[in-house]
Amino acid sequence: MSFNVAIDGPAGAGKSTAARTAAELAGFIYVDTGAMYRAIGLYFLENDVDIHDEEACCEKLPDIQVTIIHKDDVQHILLNGEDVSERIRTQEVGEAASVTSAYPEVRAKLLDLQRDLAKAYDVIMDGRDIGTTILPDADLKIFLTASADVRAMRRVSELEKKGIAADFETVRQEILDRDERDMNREISPLRKAEDAVVLDSSCLDIEETAEEVLRLIRERQQDGN
Ligand code: C5P
Repeated sequence: MSFNVAIDGPAGAGKSTAARTAAELAGFIYVDTGAMYRAIGLYFLENDVDIHDEEACCEKLPDIQVTIIHKDDVQHILLNGEDVSERIRTQEVGEAASVTSAYPEVRAKLLDLQRDLAKAYDVIMDGRDIGTTILPDADLKIFLTASADVRAMRRVSELEKKGIAADFETVRQEILDRDERDMNREISPLRKAEDAVVLDSSCLDIEETAEEVLRLIRERQQDGN
């Protein structure tokens, strides 16, 4: 039986970096489900499908194939066979993912892919609905959060490192809008699972967050033995 860790939380809480680092340390596979929604969003943007037109988007779903591969333990995401791991990292693609991930057919398309990975491997899977919907029986569920100000500050410095100037207030508002959409959609809204451990990373750096995740995994593994 594989050991499954679900990490959910809002954008910018540090889920992906903490999950990736903790997975490396624990020898687990890291599965970034946001990347899957981003790949679908990218397809719509690049094929001139109106992301606000649910019917038009859903009609295109059979043409979209999302695959996850791992090269040297790093997740790569393929969209119809092409590696789009870098191209999905823009603000625009994040927005497209946030809008279209509210469509039930989009979510249904990715459900089996996510569950199959968790069945086959020890995984740390991060997203919005992993503990509540995708892996309700996960061995460990973590709800990773941080204040909106801290998340906006992290995003601004991330952009600055890439040489992109960013306005704190604009970034903060984008984060709040995304939270609002993710928490208030009808299907699989972002919510803490009842049995999830809350981890607030506002005052922790990436290493400290990853260490705490790892500590929780070790603790749960010992409980299970
Ligand atoms: O985590 P990331 O920012 O890459 O996710 C992009 C968007 O994909 C989120 O804002 C959210 O709307 C959606 N998402 C989701 N369910 C997941 C992971 C991501 O709805 N499990």
